[in-house]
Amino acid sequence: MAGLWRSLGDLLYPPRCLMCEADLRLLRPDLLFCPGCRDELESDAESRCQRCATRTNWSTSQGCAACSGSRLAFAGVVTLGDYQGLLRDAVLKMKYAQEEPLTLAMAELLWRTHAEQIVGWKCDLVVPVPMHWWRRLRRGTNNPDLLAGRLARRLGATCLPGAVRRRRATRPQSSIPADQRSRNVRGAFRLAAGYELTGARALVVDDVLTTGATCNEVARVLRAAGVASVHVAVVARAHGQPK
Ligand SMILES: [Zn+2]
Ligand SMILES: [Zn+2]
Repeated sequence: MAGLWRSLGDLLYPPRCLMCEADLRLLRPDLLFCPGCRDELESDAESRCQRCATRTNWSTSQGCAACSGSRLAFAGVVTLGDYQGLLRDAVLKMKYAQEEPLTLAMAELLWRTHAEQIVGWKCDLVVPVPMHWWRRLRRGTNNPDLLAGRLARRLGATCLPGAVRRRRATRPQSSIPADQRSRNVRGAFRLAAGYELTGARALVVDDVLTTGATCNEVARVLRAAGVASVHVAVVARAHGQPK
């Protein structure tokens, strides 16, 4: 029993940094990471496109080279930063079932960094990008669900992990060329029966956004179901590198 209480306490206030295992017990008790790791995970100073979160040099371009001219079913994206360095290490580590505290901590970091913007979107629903059941089973954890649940709690919104379902497994987006990714996920999702979402505002949550094809397809299903607006929150923004 004592062991159980200790592990509950450790889940709320990990005694060690979730990335480098530095001892946190002598620091403030509400830290999730040591100051060094936290600075690196939160250090996103890049100016980003509000719509697709690509790094953008506004001084030299008329608009975002990545998304201007493309039709997106979502209206905006927040992220902790590019999929590189310690943020990439954290996303890779999150894939293991025993790292669920890290996944929750990353959701917390995303919230602390972008709360104002997310609140401004006035979302009433939070929808994780659905994992195929086979991948979920094999991995033993479901990061989009964990991230979405934590963000919904912070936002005071309803998390609907079952609203959008996968019709079929898709090849991992990272394994195919960028220009074929929207075809790979086209029609891969559907709205589950019994959901009435007309007029709702949704936040779609995933761990990484690369071309945006997957989030876009989920957003398309939601918009077709009458959802008024869709925004996206992801831990990291990749730019076509292998995952
Ligand atoms: Zn650390
Ligand atoms: Zn853009």
